[in-house]
This record gives sequence, C-alpha cells and structure tokens, in this order.
Amino acid sequence: MKKLIKATLSSIYYNVYFKYKKSVGNRIILYHSIGSKLSHDNYGISISKERFSEHIKYIKEHHDIIPIDDKYKYKLNSNTVSLTFDDGYKDNLYALELCEKYNVPFTLYISTGFIGKKQYLNEEEIKLFSKSSLCKLGTHSITHPHLDRLTYDVQYIELSDSKKRLENIVGHEIKEMSYPHGSYNQDTIKIIEKLGYNIVTSSHIGLNTKQNLDLKRLKRIEIIASDDIFSLEKKILGYYDYLALKEK
Ligand SMILES: [Zn+2]
Repeated sequence: MKKLIKATLSSIYYNVYFKYKKSVGNRIILYHSIGSKLSHDNYGISISKERFSEHIKYIKEHHDIIPIDDKYKYKLNSNTVSLTFDDGYKDNLYALELCEKYNVPFTLYISTGFIGKKQYLNEEEIKLFSKSSLCKLGTHSITHPHLDRLTYDVQYIELSDSKKRLENIVGHEIKEMSYPHGSYNQDTIKIIEKLGYNIVTSSHIGLNTKQNLDLKRLKRIEIIASDDIFSLEKKILGYYDYLALKEK
C-alpha cells in the first residue's frame, strides 16, 4: 500500500509539475555492488549482473552519458546521465568490463579502509580502474562513517588519509569524493575545500542544473536491485524528485 501511494505521488508529481517545468540538466545515478551477495545488504544495494547489463545497454541507447569531470559545469545545457559507484566492491570489475565494452564513462568512489578485504577491490584491481580513460576515481572516506556525527579532527583524518592512500595507489591527485551515507555537515564542507576536493557527490535527490549547480553537493539518485528498466527510466526522468521537497 505504501509503495502504491509512493508510486502514485511520484507519477502525479512528474506529470503535473516536473514535466511542465522542463528542467534541463544532468542526472547522476548511483550503484553499489553488482551480482554479489552481501551480508549487510538489507534493501538491495547489490543489483544482479543481468539487470545491470540491461541498465547499461538501455542508458547508452536512450541517453547521453557524460563523465563528472572538470568540464562538467559547462555540460548542463542538455539532458544527460552520469554513472557513479560507491564503496569499491570487487564485483565492480564487471562494471569496468561493461563500461569499456559500451564506452560509458563513470566514477568509482572507494572507502580506503576496505581495500583488499573480502568482496572489496584490492590495490592491483584499483590500478586497473585508474588505467581506464573512462573511469574517474574518488574517495569515500576510510571507514564509511556518518561524517556529520564526527568531530572536525576525526572527519579530517577520514577525508585526508583516504585521499593520500588512493593517490599513492594510482599515482596521481584525487579531487573527487562522495559522502558515505550521504552524510556531511559544515565541517565536512570546510575540510573538502581545504583538502582540494573539487567535485563531490551527495545523496540529495534531484537533477543537477545550471541554476542549482553545487559541485560540493551534486545530487544523485540510488539504483537498487528491484529497479527494472521502467523504474530506472522513471528515476532518470525525475519521477522521484518530489522526495527532495521533503528534505527542505
Ligand atoms: Zn557508501
């Protein structure tokens, strides 16, 4: 029932409001794991390989896909999609393979404290990603905490040490990150500025437009295991953007 209400609300919002507003911009979608069974997965952050492959083919065919890079802010004059992956699961090697096959750019954010642990990428595998011209790498803290619950100093270590560790592995500067659990506060923003992170993605839902562009809080929407093509397309089109209205 709750699901039905949510679906109805989202379609009213989309059909009545969003469609006529005609916002143009970039939709960032967020994946986590592909095809692995994760013990901590309560709501479907691991999507099957088959479904993921359908998604990539569908997005490639129906949308323009752009990388989240230094030129991002100049590319908001048309509707586009960007792909991101959080945490650094080992099974993202499959994403690398598919994205290479279909020439799809993406960003992978790694929690450096998990590197080499069971089900997570190890250093050698991360180097494979760094060698791909399609892949941008960013950090995702060390231990994946809710940053807004930590002191300035502890947050600083999470964001600076993860940056150094990843830079040591790939051999170049890292300027991208995403907030674990989408959580941050004013201290976090001060720290990312100080450390030189210049493109940061959040978990606020919405379209990134020329008008609302905030490179320290780019909006994203999460894709989960139950999202078929129909539901993926609804998320891309903005059917769920009404959820952001509740945030304000
Ligand atoms: Zn995460």
